Amino acid sequence: MAINQTIFIEKSVGKNGINQELDVNTIKKQLNAQMPSSHRKLIISGICDSDTIDTIIDFQKTVLGFHRPDGRIDPNGKTLRALNDSASQVKWANSPVHVNEQWSGDSSKWPQTKKLQSLNPAFRIKVQNVLDALAQRGFQPKIFFGWRSVAVQQELFAKGRTKVRFSFHNAQKPDGTPNAYAADIIDKRWGWNQEAKDNGFWSALGEAAKKQGLVWGGDWTSFKDVAHIQGRQNSELANTKKESGL
Ligand SMILES: [Zn+2]
Repeated sequence: MAINQTIFIEKSVGKNGINQELDVNTIKKQLNAQMPSSHRKLIISGICDSDTIDTIIDFQKTVLGFHRPDGRIDPNGKTLRALNDSASQVKWANSPVHVNEQWSGDSSKWPQTKKLQSLNPAFRIKVQNVLDALAQRGFQPKIFFGWRSVAVQQELFAKGRTKVRFSFHNAQKPDGTPNAYAADIIDKRWGWNQEAKDNGFWSALGEAAKKQGLVWGGDWTSFKDVAHIQGRQNSELANTKKESGL
């Protein structure tokens, strides 16, 4: 695989970079074009998000052998030269994937795009529809948790915030790539505060979710979970865990 196109940037891109919109997109497109096939593609948004920085770091470690990658690409730097060098491109395209690095960190703090990416693709479309429907009604919905790790699940379980040690939030592909069948949706103004209920947010969420054929945690009697929606029935949990290789 060879990328013939040579790219140029005006200012630095990445961690602590200047991150001009055009430069960011140039870098993202180049990274996407030569990315190992199982690597998730970056979204061409003009924004240098944590996904972009993680990928630059991965590239610097894998291709350039940096022990302390700085996550930044300078107009005349080594990383940009490597991005334009066909031997480096082949090395990157054929490198083993560092799925766990891509998906590490506190998933509740990820940008919305990454939270959406962490959902099972068919479920993701329905969640997007729910978000759109709520926004149309004047709410300001956002995903609080899409996918989360089993380790985080255990912490929440210990605090009594969930009743299961494995949930649909933890579903993944056997290679560890997030593939969640659950999302917690809140209104960014109110979170879990009383105002959310007073302003009808939870009931609107339930309504929009059920319209998409999703399960709403607010319908549960033993453990009401008003922010929670999921794409599978509780009876499918054991099977989902097995599919996840967990
Ligand atoms: Zn949930």
